[in-house]
Amino acid sequence: MKVLVINCGSSSLKYQLIDMSNEEVLAKGLAERIGIEGARVKHQPTGKEDVLIEKPMSDHKKAIEIVLNALVDSDHGAIHSMDEINAVGHRVVHGGEKFSESVVIDEKVLKAIEECSELAPLHNPPNIMGIKACQELMPNTPMVAVFDTAFHQTMPESSYIYPIPYEMYEKYGIRRYGFHGTSHKYVANRAADMLGKDIKDLKIVTCHLGNGASVAAVKNGKSIETSMGFTPLEGLAMGTRSGDIDPAIIVYLMEKENMTIDEVNTMLNKKSGVLGISGVSSDFRDIEGAASEGNHRSQLALEKFNMRVKKYIGAYSAIMKGIDVLVFTAGLGENSVETRQEICKGLEFIGIDIDEDNNKVRGKETELNKEESKVKILLIPTNEELMIARDTKSLV
Ligand code: AMP
Repeated sequence: MKVLVINCGSSSLKYQLIDMSNEEVLAKGLAERIGIEGARVKHQPTGKEDVLIEKPMSDHKKAIEIVLNALVDSDHGAIHSMDEINAVGHRVVHGGEKFSESVVIDEKVLKAIEECSELAPLHNPPNIMGIKACQELMPNTPMVAVFDTAFHQTMPESSYIYPIPYEMYEKYGIRRYGFHGTSHKYVANRAADMLGKDIKDLKIVTCHLGNGASVAAVKNGKSIETSMGFTPLEGLAMGTRSGDIDPAIIVYLMEKENMTIDEVNTMLNKKSGVLGISGVSSDFRDIEGAASEGNHRSQLALEKFNMRVKKYIGAYSAIMKGIDVLVFTAGLGENSVETRQEICKGLEFIGIDIDEDNNKVRGKETELNKEESKVKILLIPTNEELMIARDTKSLV
């Protein structure tokens, strides 16, 4: 069985074609600048040269058409005909309270995803465009939606409710949902596999540290707390997002700086986080570089980032009444030796003891802890596409 995994952003589209008989990636790629000038697809067929296809793409349908043509191309394709694609798995950011698991997409499901758009106005609409475009181009191929929020639907009420008037939850669904669920679920399950343990016997803290970043407490295989909330703005300091701040700052700034709602929103989502503190970049490589040259604000940005991750690890260990496994994943978690070292530093008192040499590794599954460490510390590269493909396979 071959599954095409689609992840649509507002002007981009990532794809992977996976052969589920051995979970091998046959081809992957990225369409960029959809609907704007300079549109292109970087297509990477496994075992063949990458190709750059530069063609106008007025919308997601056109982009998917180009991707499908690339996949069946006699030179740089990966399959002979579109009929070989047995199912399509779509990443959908917000499933609200309606979806606690992946689902086969039908008209009712699509309508429910559309209803969730109000909660994720930037993310769900492009996801829906991707689904509709695929349905038009592959009307007989079954499609599955896999939600970023689904894994966290097991959070208890006390985790997801905000301490604001309860009517706001009833009226608008204002509660904590959590994101990166597919990634947290994947690495938590991989951690149990790597350790040869049943996930039901483990208390795991998973740290998805990328440009967007979140931590989750996974107890007995279920997410019981996570740092992102109503939107992906809550929690850790991120590349450009503030994460937790005193909500009173918003009102204060609107008054002092005469800022509009849009301006505050842009500031907190696009100009804050480690970019906001450092003034250098949102990319941790640049900030680490500047910090090592003595740039104070870059050092401060990294300290703030690491401290907040540490804070969540402590909090989640308390909530779970212990911690057996700590997992690092995503761009920064997989690649930044220094970040992992700094986050773990000082956590020996709860049994987290990282080994400096074991930690000198990037991007591959590794046990990072000292032998005597009570807590296993694992680096696990995330694989959201594989997770989506697996759910798709099992549902169709
Ligand atoms: P992601 O959103 O998962 O793609 O992660 C992107 C983030 O990972 C960026 O901020 C990168 O700076 C960071 N990153 C990737 N590689 C490295 C590296 N070698 N060292 C430090 N940070 C890295």
